[in-house]
Amino acid sequence: MTLGWEGVTTGQRPPRPDATASTPRALGRGARRIWGCPVAQPLSKQADIHAQTHHKQTPRPAPVAVIGAGPYGLSVAAFLRAAGTPVRVFGVVMGSWRHDMASGMFLKSTPDAVDLAAPVPGAELADFVRSEGRPRLTELTPIPCALFVRYGQWFRTRHVGEVEESRVASVARAPGRGFTVRLEDGEEFTASAVVVASGLTGLARIPSTLAHLAPGGPAADAPLSHTSQHADLSVFAGKRVAVIGGGQSALESAALMQESGAKVDVLVRADRVIFGGRPVLGRSRYQRVTKPGSPLGTGWALAVICRSPEFIRRLPSRTRRWILRRVLGPSGGWWLRDRVDGLVAVHTGREVAKAELLPDGRVRLRLTGSGSGPAELTVDHVLAATGYTVDIEATRFLAPELRAELARVPGTQGPRLAADFESSVPGLYFTGNLAAPAFGPVMRFVVGARYAATRIAPAAARHAR
Ligand SMILES: Cc1cc2nc3c(=O)[nH]c(=O)nc-3n(C[C@H](O)[C@H](O)[C@H](O)COP(=O)(O)OP(=O)(O)OC[C@H]3O[C@@H](n4cnc5c(N)ncnc54)[C@H](O)[C@@H]3O)c2cc1C
Repeated sequence: MTLGWEGVTTGQRPPRPDATASTPRALGRGARRIWGCPVAQPLSKQADIHAQTHHKQTPRPAPVAVIGAGPYGLSVAAFLRAAGTPVRVFGVVMGSWRHDMASGMFLKSTPDAVDLAAPVPGAELADFVRSEGRPRLTELTPIPCALFVRYGQWFRTRHVGEVEESRVASVARAPGRGFTVRLEDGEEFTASAVVVASGLTGLARIPSTLAHLAPGGPAADAPLSHTSQHADLSVFAGKRVAVIGGGQSALESAALMQESGAKVDVLVRADRVIFGGRPVLGRSRYQRVTKPGSPLGTGWALAVICRSPEFIRRLPSRTRRWILRRVLGPSGGWWLRDRVDGLVAVHTGREVAKAELLPDGRVRLRLTGSGSGPAELTVDHVLAATGYTVDIEATRFLAPELRAELARVPGTQGPRLAADFESSVPGLYFTGNLAAPAFGPVMRFVVGARYAATRIAPAAARHAR
């Protein structure tokens, strides 16, 4: 994989940079290259970009705006800041890991698959764990989400610097060049480029058979909610809850609720539930050749998906859609099996045919399917663990005209992206889940952050210059 910026294939639209612009000399005294990436100054010595861009007397180039401070936003911001590009980063650091996931959850990924990306060494999860004086994580160590949040905060302090907690309310084309970005507090500024790193925000999927249960929209205190709406599942202690879905979110939410005293029924459309296999440490040479390892698992298909997102991007969109549907489908982490099997009622081959809100506020579910579970269930709450759908229309902070202008990947509502993640609107970049229809399943996982950041940062920096 190319770690430096030089080897990066970029789209044609932005003018090529001045050949000297990113050399150590052009970046100033003390600038150097690390992993081939131009690094302007240590973070501690970089000027406060926020202050710079607000200083009326000395006009500065319009900054790049990064929307979202999760793994993808922080990674691209780390590369931009290291290169001395003016950038403003918005959002709560690791916000969705703090507020949209239930406490007590663990990552499904192994430690080698969740490093955030910076252009200098020493930024990996292992470095953070060492800095806390904790024992080394192995593939057999499930990572608590709380630890991953602390890692993100540590990474931000060391490699990103200032992140503004404000939400971005809207992004529209600016008169002339760039974009007008408006924050929720009313501040408006011009950005030379915008990197959308808003993750799964707004993309939660609710099946149409359930939606009417919550006319005001799904919510933790309504009869229907989505897994992304819970930070604490112990509120269901003593209640009966139906969980719809058979993936990690469904199974882990069910385990957490059962452990805190709820009665849980998991309804799975498929005829079986899949748990990942316990990782094998010290695989033989034969095993490594026939089923190469990758951060997302073993096998040639996963190795290609992880190592060559650009190859995936160039596939016919029908093939890519097939890959997105079939590869890394719903399954539970290997360590979750012991917390579910024999403890939680899991009904396979069952799906909701009809859902009815009863006068006492409970919900009656009529079930169909080839499975042998109940035909009817009455529950206090329905928890939809039904995943997410990439739909650019759900990214409401993008002005309607901008959304209308965005070309889509055929057969999807995801933006069509160039090799440097630029959309059909010059200067507007998408990363993380929103980039998955273009670059494949790796963009759904933290492990794709390095690939994305090393392509986006140099391309976005050219707009700022
Ligand atoms: C329950 C669960 C478990 C998961 N486990 C794993 C795992 O084990 N391994 C893995 O690789 N992936 C996992 N994922 C997928 C995970 O979401 C992504 O890999 C990762 O978080 C993507 O990072 P991101 O930066 O794109 O998005 P996020 O981490 O979601 O960050 C996006 C941020 O943008 C912010 N934002 C959105 N809109 C705005 C706005 N208008 N203004 C300002 N900020 C905004 C959001 O609040 C959010 O904080 C899991 C997902 C879920 C839901």
